[in-house]
Amino acid sequence: MKICETAEQAYQNMGIDPALWNMGEEILSHLKDRFEKIDETCEINQLKVLAAMQKNRISAEHFNGSTGYGYNDAGRDDLERVYADVFHTEDALVRAQITCGTHALSLALSANLRPQDEMLSISGKPYDTLEEVIGIRPSMGSLAEYGVSYRQVELTKDGSFDFDAIQKALGPKTRLAAIQRSKGYLTRPSLSVAQIAEAVRFVKDLRPDVIVMVDNCYGEFVDRVEPSDFGADMTVGSLIKNPGGGLAPMGGYIAGTKACVSNCAVRLTSPGLGREVGASLGINRSLYQGLFLAPVVTAGALKGAIFAANLFERFGYRCIPDAKQKRQDIIQAIEFGSAEGLIAFCEGIQAAAPVDSYVAPEPWAMPGYDSQVIMAAGAFIQGSSIELSADGPLHEPYAAYFQGGLTFAHAKFGILKAAQRLYEKGLLVF
Ligand SMILES: *Cc1c(COP(=O)(O)O)cnc(C)c1O
Repeated sequence: MKICETAEQAYQNMGIDPALWNMGEEILSHLKDRFEKIDETCEINQLKVLAAMQKNRISAEHFNGSTGYGYNDAGRDDLERVYADVFHTEDALVRAQITCGTHALSLALSANLRPQDEMLSISGKPYDTLEEVIGIRPSMGSLAEYGVSYRQVELTKDGSFDFDAIQKALGPKTRLAAIQRSKGYLTRPSLSVAQIAEAVRFVKDLRPDVIVMVDNCYGEFVDRVEPSDFGADMTVGSLIKNPGGGLAPMGGYIAGTKACVSNCAVRLTSPGLGREVGASLGINRSLYQGLFLAPVVTAGALKGAIFAANLFERFGYRCIPDAKQKRQDIIQAIEFGSAEGLIAFCEGIQAAAPVDSYVAPEPWAMPGYDSQVIMAAGAFIQGSSIELSADGPLHEPYAAYFQGGLTFAHAKFGILKAAQRLYEKGLLVF
């Protein structure tokens, strides 16, 4: 290992050309004001989390886990109170037994919908994995099999809510309206909390009986407020994304009204048992500590996404959101226009990882996708996408969806490494 006394040397030692590093520094010098605003958001959210932990008198005994049935697990139960306070909701369910984001959303839906009810998505096509949950693509155990029908209202061309169409679509059977904050694998803009707040109000004014659920994946702590601050009945997400702060080894959350969350608890375990059971084993400390770090980790990931957009736009690639756009989540899409570009980008992200940096990601035919997909992830937690990761389907426009980074320094290095990789393959010049 070489001794490096300057950052330039340290990056060069790790394979970054000084000319590229200089370009990165120049770009970062223009992002100072924007990064300062992100730091302010981070501080506000840090204090929000801290206040919730203090209010609930979190102490060392909360980090003890439970086994078996998991009765009287104060660590687990008070963590749920902390989440409810952070999201300003009556209640929250935060469990290891919620296996991922898709499961959390599936739980929120199946727990609150009954046969003959209709679910209405008012933000267009939902995230890919929800297609089988709902039964848009026929699937064993889908809501459709239980007699729950589904309709969706497309967003307008510019990616806003289509209020006229929503008003028309709200029917006598509509029981739940769903909103997805982040664009997922689409190239529409992600929705802001302000836009979501307006849509929640619109639906509730017309139909106070309709439950509004927000898929908040990748959105937590990006803004100073959350959809739950504006009357969403359920705000749902994954702990291996933003709110887990990179430390949560698994889990999902649902923050919302007492009525909705209680339905989720009995559906997750069993009628009659509800939230009283569900051993936390040894993960309480990681969930608390991860939530505590989440505002900082999210801020770093956000800066990484902005840096990536500014760097790759400079190289002539289309970035969504673009270099200047306001952010609503931590996802950055970059269109490479060729398989070689997408693959080289993912190779660079992988080569920058703390884990599995020596392996090369290969495109593969992933179940449920109609073309090959390439994924780069060198993560401490399997599949964690608050850690630096990238993936994309091998078809036009050959977009990489890039997110995360537990520290900004790592995100920055990964982005430079990816650019270096494209340079070495003759796909860009600096
Ligand atoms: C990641 C994600 C999900 C699903 O979460 P998993 O943990 O991958 O199951 C759902 N919706 C959106 C918008 C997401 O980004």
